[in-house]
Amino acid sequence: MMITPIHRFRDIERKPEYLQPDKCVPPPSHDSSGKMWFIRDGCGIACAVITWFLVFYADFVVILIMLLPSRDYIYSIINGVVFNTLAFLALASHMRAMLTDPGAVPKGNATKEFIESLQLKPGQVVYKCPKCCSIKPDRAHHCSVCKRCIRKMDHHCPWVNNCVGENNQKYFVLFTMYIALISLHALIMVGFHFLYCFEEDWTKCSSFSPPTTVILLILLCFEALLFLIFTSVMFGTQVHSICTDETGIEQLKKEERRWAKKTKWMNMKAVFGHPFSIVWLSPFATPDQGKADPYQYVV
Ligand SMILES: [Zn+2]
Ligand SMILES: [Zn+2]
Repeated sequence: MMITPIHRFRDIERKPEYLQPDKCVPPPSHDSSGKMWFIRDGCGIACAVITWFLVFYADFVVILIMLLPSRDYIYSIINGVVFNTLAFLALASHMRAMLTDPGAVPKGNATKEFIESLQLKPGQVVYKCPKCCSIKPDRAHHCSVCKRCIRKMDHHCPWVNNCVGENNQKYFVLFTMYIALISLHALIMVGFHFLYCFEEDWTKCSSFSPPTTVILLILLCFEALLFLIFTSVMFGTQVHSICTDETGIEQLKKEERRWAKKTKWMNMKAVFGHPFSIVWLSPFATPDQGKADPYQYVV
């Protein structure tokens, strides 16, 4: 069977055996739109569990070693409320980043019928993904872990066990921001607590024995420092790539810019929602992005 000459198919790998649209079978008809998005990847699930464990460890040390034994109740209550609120927001952002569909393109939609329904003009080119048999909108990339093409894919992050793409970038940025904030807060509290223990008696500044206290504090110090560096670099990189409207993959591949240039502020609104408000900081508010236009299918 011949390919209709007016439609040309291209994919980035340019493997000729994938060029026939007939090779793609339509996806099974069962409706998967109501299903929760969750990537079954052992490494990613392990990393996500470790992330939660580390946050709980930090909370345990902050509350039991540093805040409860302190005799300054105001200091304990204020720091306890601030730390736990930030930790709660970090974990909520993590859940939303993990369980939100990052912008997966319908699987196996590169059927002859679908391509004909796009009513392409002669000479127009559509990109087809050879791995998941979908018509690849501009700026979508295939992720080998998710086994799907993801719109505006930035990278696959094992720590949130998901791709970071068009629909969940806000939650990922909030996750890195809140982790950086709790790390900084924990570091400051560890510093104050060490000073307090040096001035007071080591047996009085914690309900644990002095060696246990020192080990737990030093472990928290390492954890907080490591994650402060890692997440603040990640946060800066993400905000930069949002402002310049260039995903991590596009920067790596040094892709030529095919999309319209917008202001930094417009790019921020595209990810965090319109208009600017306090809900930009809330992992519970789904950003209104003004959904993708059908022309994304056509290059
Ligand atoms: Zn794909
Ligand atoms: Zn992925």
